[in-house]
Amino acid sequence: MSEVTEQQILEALNAVNDPETGKDVVTQGMVSGLQVKDGHVAFALEVDPERGPTLESLRKEAEKTVHALPGVLSATVVLTAERPSQPAPGPGGQPAPGPGGQPGPSPGGQPGPSPDKALMPGVQSIVAVASGKGGVGKSTTSVNLALALAAGGHKVGLLDADIYGPSMPRMMGITGQPTSSDGHRLDPMENYGVKCMSMGFLVEEDTPVIWRGPMAQSALQQMMRDVNWGNLDIMIVDLPPGTGDIQLTIAQQVPLAGAVIVSTPQDIALSDARKGLNMFRKVDVPVYGIIENMSYFLCPHCNERSEIFSHGGARRVAETLGTDFLGEIPLSMDIRETSDSGRPIVVSDPGNEHAKAFMAIAEKIWEKTGKAAVQAPKIVVQ
Ligand code: ADP
Repeated sequence: MSEVTEQQILEALNAVNDPETGKDVVTQGMVSGLQVKDGHVAFALEVDPERGPTLESLRKEAEKTVHALPGVLSATVVLTAERPSQPAPGPGGQPAPGPGGQPGPSPGGQPGPSPDKALMPGVQSIVAVASGKGGVGKSTTSVNLALALAAGGHKVGLLDADIYGPSMPRMMGITGQPTSSDGHRLDPMENYGVKCMSMGFLVEEDTPVIWRGPMAQSALQQMMRDVNWGNLDIMIVDLPPGTGDIQLTIAQQVPLAGAVIVSTPQDIALSDARKGLNMFRKVDVPVYGIIENMSYFLCPHCNERSEIFSHGGARRVAETLGTDFLGEIPLSMDIRETSDSGRPIVVSDPGNEHAKAFMAIAEKIWEKTGKAAVQAPKIVVQ
């Protein structure tokens, strides 16, 4: 079957009318970021922020209309509301993408979007967890750190910003979809006392998530702004793996208090860690330090410690780059099994020494967010 064209999609959308104006979504310039790849279609409908909550039926209708076209395997439509201060859309109502369709955080050295503190006004400190590449245990670390912070008595949120490969539903042992108690914004999902939001709750498991650029940004913004996060002491944000444009854009959008970088000893090349540090430096986000995951192997039978990948690389790299070494987590069957089965080790076996290692790192991160607050000017009333 031949690939559906953008033209065909726009023609079909000519029949989808905005209930308020009676005009179709294409004529009104609402369609943006249209992506077609191997029969998978994704785009955003740009709406007035106030109208967002009432337009779910329009979003569904657009999705259904496109899905019904021959050659379309999946259709994903998100509602996006641009703030007036954001750059105007490019010609044809499409937001101007960066090179290669990626979001352009700083094309030609221009500053990208700046973080919007009003996105999650009740959240005190937001800390990103990043890695140079996938599979190093970034998500496992994010989850266990969030749970360790909660175990320390803090109110904690966990935002899965890895919209391309969300893993939080599985790791947090949460199934189902978020609902809305106020009819306007989604309530975050919750387990083990941690509030959690992930694209994994919103898209079908077998829907390949292909959005990028402006759509990725709006999906992330929705998970921040359109979710009732309430008052939280700290939020952990699990970034997509890597230190490219996407990660940089997220780091620019989210008002981060700080960031940590997860690496394994075999991958800890100076250049990787430096890339991570530079990425956060570009957006003025302090890097709290580096965590070495799968640092050494602890035999579950004899408790013998084997340094499979000559551990300690992250400590040396941290020293060289002038950032802190936050701690090391061993390669352990317990960690893998518990995180992959939705019972992370910090909650399923808090007395375990690996759980304690996560708790010690969480404590350091907490202290660092506190330090930042203390450094802020204080008004003393005498
Ligand atoms: P990333 O987020 O960096 O892609 P994940 O957290 O998804 O990585 O971890 C990849 C795999 O490695 C998962 O199966 C996870 O359970 C496992 N894993 C992560 N950390 C450890 C560890 N310290 N010991 C054993 N397995 C681990």
